[in-house]
Amino acid sequence: MQHNHSPQGEATPYGVPPSSVSGFLKSSDTGALRNLDVRLFQEAIMNYINAKQVREKAQNQWLCVLSGLAPQLESALKKPGRHVSCPVHHGQDGFRLFKDVNETGGGICNSCGAKSDGFELLKWLNGWSFRETLEQVAAFLGVTSLHNQVDSHKQQPWLQHAQQQLTQQKKQSEQAAFWITQVWNQAQPLGDDAVKRYLQQRRCFTSHVSDCVRFHPALPYFDEEGHRVGEFPAMVCSVQNAAGQIVTLHRTYLTNEGHKAPVEKVKKMMSIPDNLAVAGNAIRLVGPQGSILGIAEGIETALSVYLATGIPTWSAMTATLLKSVQPPKSIRTVIIWADQDRSCAGEEAALILKERLQQQGITVLVMLPDQCLLGDRKSVDWNDVWCQHQHAGFPTKKSLQQHYFQEKQRMAQINMSVIDTEAGKSGECAFCPPHGWQGNPDDYLMLMRERYRDVMFYQRMLVTAKLQKKVKLVIRGPFAQEVQCILGKLNQTIAA
Ligand SMILES: [Zn+2]
Repeated sequence: MQHNHSPQGEATPYGVPPSSVSGFLKSSDTGALRNLDVRLFQEAIMNYINAKQVREKAQNQWLCVLSGLAPQLESALKKPGRHVSCPVHHGQDGFRLFKDVNETGGGICNSCGAKSDGFELLKWLNGWSFRETLEQVAAFLGVTSLHNQVDSHKQQPWLQHAQQQLTQQKKQSEQAAFWITQVWNQAQPLGDDAVKRYLQQRRCFTSHVSDCVRFHPALPYFDEEGHRVGEFPAMVCSVQNAAGQIVTLHRTYLTNEGHKAPVEKVKKMMSIPDNLAVAGNAIRLVGPQGSILGIAEGIETALSVYLATGIPTWSAMTATLLKSVQPPKSIRTVIIWADQDRSCAGEEAALILKERLQQQGITVLVMLPDQCLLGDRKSVDWNDVWCQHQHAGFPTKKSLQQHYFQEKQRMAQINMSVIDTEAGKSGECAFCPPHGWQGNPDDYLMLMRERYRDVMFYQRMLVTAKLQKKVKLVIRGPFAQEVQCILGKLNQTIAA
């Protein structure tokens, strides 16, 4: 449907009728209406379309409006709130509609960002101007046409199903919020209980732990199918966002003696209500006081770090969540106590967090346990180090300070995302030949093959390859092309 706009219409802000049109509508001579060209009449009406009015009418009708005006959204509309292939960029899962799509009409593309409402979304999808979008939506809803198309569209069974899904999701989200409050209020401050015994067995109990760790005497455990398995004592920790708001609870199921409970998944996170974000959160176990903060993956790891160093340390819970932790504004130095995983997931997450925090001007140290992964062990964390070696396994205050000053210096010179292949430019980088090295591209590849067989260099290469998928790397110097090729092959190896 194409509309021809009158020049007055184009120049007129919505809701303010041009004088000629208002004069026409004020006319008491109804005969004039009959004589008018229908299209002209529609145009006159169009000038009266008030964006606010259409927006109000569209509220709670967006599923239907979008299905009518943007058929390419079908797969997204069938699974509202879930990731689907982007209707513009295609690919795997680059797009989703917001969970309140029926109220707002909004959605988000991973490449282009959020479209806050249905007008923005339709403009983007159909290449319409705002005016065109407004007209199309107004006509669809029956604001400017005799027949609204909502009723006929609403009959489609899949649209009704989508509506049900949204209602269900909303109910689940409300339930999640209810249970978070319920469980948190039932949980008690730590005393001589199973949580204390559990942490003592992991050698990381401290009386300095904040109120974000509580004891629940009998927390129900549900299996993956939602069956209630039983009730267990539990350590319940509040997970807070950057604003300090509790977004969800982390649970560790225990026995009375302080062992792990005999359940399939000892550690679980409660669902997060829809209006709260998963990213940026942490368990604020201790502190912070001052401008320095430690961040570790696990709760036990963070507590061990606090005991070993006295530095207030938070738990990010998982490697994935570690990447997005946001410390308070007062923090100038962050020490990331990464897990050493065979998969490199811990180190990779730490480097991504480091990169992000450095951009905020925070000095970041990454500490990896200096231990070999023996046998079929998948990972070593700082709680393992603490249990085995106590203070001896940790860097001393002096060495941490040295590390800090080195890092401060290096921060000024080296950016993690820059790879310079000119010999001697960076002693840290696996792709940089040593000072004074001279060779051609073949020699360079030979050098890289040697380094690939060296554990230290190999790890660094792998981490760089993984980092490349998250951060845009700047690769320069005489062997930039070779580095691109090596990184590509490494990423193929990782994927395989
Ligand atoms: Zn997209």
